[in-house]
Amino acid sequence: MVKWIVFVALVVGATGPLAAAEWLELRNFKLFDGTGSEPREVHRLVVKDGEIVAIDEADDEQRPAPGEAVTIIDLDGAFMMPGLIDTHVHLANWPMARHELVNRLSWALDHGVTSLRDLGGDARVLAEIRRAAELGELDAPRIRIGAIFGGQSMFNHPALAQASPGMAPGQAPWLREVSGEGDVSLMVAMARGAGVDALKIYGNLGVTRVEELVAEAQQQGMMAWAHATVFPASPQDLISVGVQSLSHAPYLIWAGVESLPDDYGYRTKGPWDDIPPDHPGILDLLDEMAERGVVLDATLAMYRDMTRYRPAEGIEWAMQAFEWGVTVTRLAHERGVPVSVGTDAFFPPTLFEPPNTHVEIRALVKDVGLSPDQALVAATRNGARAAGLDELVGTVEVGKRADLVVLGSDPLSDIHATTDIDWVIFDGRIHRRPER
Ligand SMILES: [Zn+2]
Repeated sequence: MVKWIVFVALVVGATGPLAAAEWLELRNFKLFDGTGSEPREVHRLVVKDGEIVAIDEADDEQRPAPGEAVTIIDLDGAFMMPGLIDTHVHLANWPMARHELVNRLSWALDHGVTSLRDLGGDARVLAEIRRAAELGELDAPRIRIGAIFGGQSMFNHPALAQASPGMAPGQAPWLREVSGEGDVSLMVAMARGAGVDALKIYGNLGVTRVEELVAEAQQQGMMAWAHATVFPASPQDLISVGVQSLSHAPYLIWAGVESLPDDYGYRTKGPWDDIPPDHPGILDLLDEMAERGVVLDATLAMYRDMTRYRPAEGIEWAMQAFEWGVTVTRLAHERGVPVSVGTDAFFPPTLFEPPNTHVEIRALVKDVGLSPDQALVAATRNGARAAGLDELVGTVEVGKRADLVVLGSDPLSDIHATTDIDWVIFDGRIHRRPER
């Protein structure tokens, strides 16, 4: 247990400005800043109105003015890392009461997950909750919203039909069927108007339509994320038209297949025994991803643990997919592809367990063979890049927002320590403090 003290020093006397700045000063900890550099001892990190303004600089300007309060916490040598970022969640693709979702978002923050990339759900719910969080009405991680844009038959799936109550499946701005003649710029603009940050290019689309969508997303200042199996477009096609991330490492197998199926339903029928992860077509794809900085949202643990979420029959392929995906993720990392931490199954069967984000981090270490510091960079800096949040968060540096997790033990010696959480600072405010 970390020893800690809190001072709230209100300097009285002078007349402060109407909105006095809020200050937080964290002292004496070991900082893993997520930039890839070695952890270091830090004596003083200063946060002003949620932004990190000083780390050990002898800058006297970064101090509270008379009339401003400061909270000072001595972390007594504890380990600090950036808040974790999960790049593959579905928060609102099934009916859930608002208060239940709000509870779960606070639970995510309790467990150090400070940003989430939602890859398809009801954007109305997510945008409203995001606004409420920005107004300080509730505590929720940063949420980046992806809209599912897919081809014919994609929206027959009941899970997708549930994510747009009141609208026909495939006709909602955040769940859009785009195989017909519709006006692509209007559809992208409607998604943007619904609060969406990125298109998730999903399934059953050809390369021409994908190219049009990605270009339109860029034009309108949005990102383009893709599922690795947008048949008949190939993974190579997706990279060459400029998508910024690919989800699900096992499906990269389709970069080694001569002719692709034209239906997304075949994605799970990869020739796992016939095409090795180091097939030349796949290595070329990885090199192209590295060159362009395309993030691999690997989602490995979900395949291994699928029986926790679905009946066992019909998912024999999942274990093969997991093993294949582990090897291809290792190759991707070795060749310079930024790998991120995404779960797809973010919520464990009960909320007595932490979010599966921690399970995926452990899989990157134990199965893929990344070192703990590489896995933490995947869960922070690489995640921020995938979510388009890299100017705000993902590393602990001056100028970034203060999303910070303080641990009671060192994850670089045992990766399980990512769940040994004492403090969570979100956007410069204390969300969780140690139990005493
Ligand atoms: Zn998903």
